[in-house]
Amino acid sequence: MKKLHKISCLLLLLIIPTFLISCETNDEPVEKETYMMGTIMNFKIYGKNAGTATALVLKRISNIESKMSVNIKTSEISKLNAKAGISGQKLSEDTYSVIEKSVQYSKLTGGALDATIEPIVGLWGIGTDKERLPSKTEIDDKLKLVNYKDIVLDKKNSTVKLKRTNQAIDLGAIAKGYTADEVKKVLLNNKISSAIINLGGNVYAIGKNAKGKDWNVGIQNPLSTRGEYLGTISVTDKSIVTSGNYERFFIKDGIRYHHIFDPKTGYPAQQSLISTTIVSDKSVDGDALSTSTYIMGLDKGLKLVESIKGVEAIFVTKDKKVYVTPGLKDNFKLTSKGFTYEKGR
Ligand code: ADP
Ligand code: MG
Repeated sequence: MKKLHKISCLLLLLIIPTFLISCETNDEPVEKETYMMGTIMNFKIYGKNAGTATALVLKRISNIESKMSVNIKTSEISKLNAKAGISGQKLSEDTYSVIEKSVQYSKLTGGALDATIEPIVGLWGIGTDKERLPSKTEIDDKLKLVNYKDIVLDKKNSTVKLKRTNQAIDLGAIAKGYTADEVKKVLLNNKISSAIINLGGNVYAIGKNAKGKDWNVGIQNPLSTRGEYLGTISVTDKSIVTSGNYERFFIKDGIRYHHIFDPKTGYPAQQSLISTTIVSDKSVDGDALSTSTYIMGLDKGLKLVESIKGVEAIFVTKDKKVYVTPGLKDNFKLTSKGFTYEKGR
């Protein structure tokens, strides 16, 4: 039947290309890999509308990127940064809400997450052709500009202002999470009930897989190359976000300098953790928390996650110990040898 359906579809496609969408079968997903927001993104979308939905998803991501990227001169964030210390910038609902969310998490994490980290990110240039180890003086100089309390939010006018000249916002720690939630909205609005998306480490599993079971999601092994797993969890309608020191970094004199900065020091966060994974309903929360718990370290990070309802975590330490919060203990399966599972916590 399936074969016949395919053959007839192919014949129809030769005659009327617009039949493409109606010829999509339920069990064959639309698979797409693309490079956006400075990272590789993967989509596997099931259902009748998968073709249309995929196109709309890509359009939405591009729309968010054009508003929030620091690398796009015309973005709202670039305009806001250019006006730092001078005046406020009127923002779209998207950008305003992400900045607002970021400030909420700054307060919740004692400043571990701080969107005004941009001068430090720019100074180190990690992952760009300008990456280098700056001097302590340079770092201290830029660090003076980092303070989320200088973000002035004006909700009524959807305007944000940075108090001081040369201050700048970078939403890299949270924008992909927001985007994953928006992608989910687009998919649901287009009647997609089964999909798995991966926005460069921000995974969202929608509904069930083709076999009608929960999605089995691999957690990246922080000591291996991309695609090798530490373990797996099975989930439905959950976001899984991982932050780690293996994503973007350079090594100098045997020291690894990575892209997650401690706003207290201006240096890459030097805690016992090498990777943090957050499982939550909303990916914006997962993204904010995976970055900030990485900076906060094992004890403070676990404490914070355990205090938030509906949020679970998997943390990996330098000495290869894996810590899992109670709500995930029966679910997480450690598959990689060489790590020990700290069940007793
Ligand atoms: P990834 O971008 O690899 O998914 P994260 O979500 O952890 O990783 O975000 C890291 C990015 O967030 C950095 O590339 C930088 O742009 C930004 N960033 C780094 N340190 C901080 C921080 N302390 N607070 C807010 N944003 C940060
Ligand atoms: Mg993050």
